[in-house]
Amino acid sequence: MAGEADLTGRGGLRLILLGPPNSGKGTQAGRASERLGIPAISTGDMLRQAVAAESPLGNKVEEIMATGELVDDDTMADVVRERLRKGDTRRGFLLDGYPRTLPQAETLEAILGERGEELDAALLVEVPEDELVARALGRGREDDEEEVLRERFRVYREKTAPLIGYYEERDLLRRVDGDRPVAEVTSRILHALGVATQDAGRSGGPAHAASRSRSPLASQPLAASERALAAGGRSGSVGAAGKEARKR
Ligand code: ADP
Repeated sequence: MAGEADLTGRGGLRLILLGPPNSGKGTQAGRASERLGIPAISTGDMLRQAVAAESPLGNKVEEIMATGELVDDDTMADVVRERLRKGDTRRGFLLDGYPRTLPQAETLEAILGERGEELDAALLVEVPEDELVARALGRGREDDEEEVLRERFRVYREKTAPLIGYYEERDLLRRVDGDRPVAEVTSRILHALGVATQDAGRSGGPAHAASRSRSPLASQPLAASERALAAGGRSGSVGAAGKEARKR
């Protein structure tokens, strides 16, 4: 039987990871991408490296990053376009931290379109905001850091949360309960992608299968379990529509 969970034979796996600040996205991006055999691409890490290297890009974004605001969409488009040009993305990638705005989502669609590709799934790591604040305070942040964190949450609700509806409409959204131990969240991410944890390492042969359907994940049995997860983890979730409406 052709493995329903076998994603590697479909011509690559192009994923994005969505979630509020401090939701553990970066950790999960690293763990999941390793299991999936695709590179994790963190725009936050790329920008921090640019800042550390005092490159022209770094100098341009340093101040804005320090305030918790977003770097402008045009700059980010250049960063992502250039990164995706590298050969290691040929069989897919897991983007962490991009897109963060609706225009960025459209840009990503265009960049992939130029390559004859499209996104396979948008993973949303859901953690109640109270829990996220508690995690941050538990680390003993300075007051000004707390201010920056609050600003980042505000920006998330205002600019990034609308992406949830955007990907829901395109049937690409996969919700994952992020309020769980690290290893369990990783398992849930893999499960949401239809990768059975015990055979996630199985190789599916050469990529670039010509028969790739438009939304390969949508028709898989994972859809039902994914809905169950979403229903279970919905109360107080950052993805809830009510949060968007909550203006501060
Ligand atoms: P987090 O700690 O929530 O994972 P990141 O490490 O992804 O945050 O990003 C850190 C900072 O880098 C952001 O607050 C923002 O200023 C900038 N940044 C990263 N990705 C983007 C993006 N796609 N668009 C705009 N700014 C970005």
